Amino acid sequence: MSQECTTENCGRLTTLFLCTACIVELDGLLEDVPALIPLLAGARAGTAVVRKAGSGGGGGVTGSKPPGSLDAMMLQAWLAQLPERAYTLASDNPEAGRWLHMARIWVPQARSLVWGPEDMRVYGNCETGECVTQLKADRHAESVTCQTCGTVHHVGDLIDRLKEKARGNPMPPREAREFLQKEARVFILKKDFENWVQLGKLPYVLERVTTTEKPRKIYYPGDILSIFHEMRERRRIPA
Ligand SMILES: [Zn+2]
Ligand SMILES: [Zn+2]
Repeated sequence: MSQECTTENCGRLTTLFLCTACIVELDGLLEDVPALIPLLAGARAGTAVVRKAGSGGGGGVTGSKPPGSLDAMMLQAWLAQLPERAYTLASDNPEAGRWLHMARIWVPQARSLVWGPEDMRVYGNCETGECVTQLKADRHAESVTCQTCGTVHHVGDLIDRLKEKARGNPMPPREAREFLQKEARVFILKKDFENWVQLGKLPYVLERVTTTEKPRKIYYPGDILSIFHEMRERRRIPA
């Protein structure tokens, strides 16, 4: 059964919520998201892979933010909610077109905040032994050679590592809520948290504190933050 693509002014027919052209476009935007999320944290802390104001030609983004832009924290929280593949959104989400619309605005904003307009990508530090050299590569490169120690890194592995970092270290519920309140200025009620656990929304790991006690469940702050934003977004969209 065909219906119209949910992207505004697209009008193409599809059996999903997005047409093929919109899926391809969204995948292009999603491609960099796993690398952008943790790097936005750096941009936030000012330890920055952020381009210096005025460097690079061609005008456009300088040090100041364009009007209506989100800060790095909000961009990070928003990007963290995106699925890995456009197909997931296109098949499950009747609001997929709206997501593409936001991705068109916010992914380029995150890219320019973290990377500037250049075609180079920064993938964090080498982390081989003591080496902390920043790894940079052309956006189409599949591997990066460290300039200092010569280690060859596969870009896919580096992105996996960045993703794991974005989830943070798992911690017990109360600590996790306090952590997010402090770091992300996000206030999560105990009862909401328990609800999400009950709904099976929050992945956890088991930690054995002592050999006599039962192992307790600990949670990734990054996962909690994603659910928080997902739920808030749901409340905002009338069913
Ligand atoms: Zn479309
Ligand atoms: Zn190195």
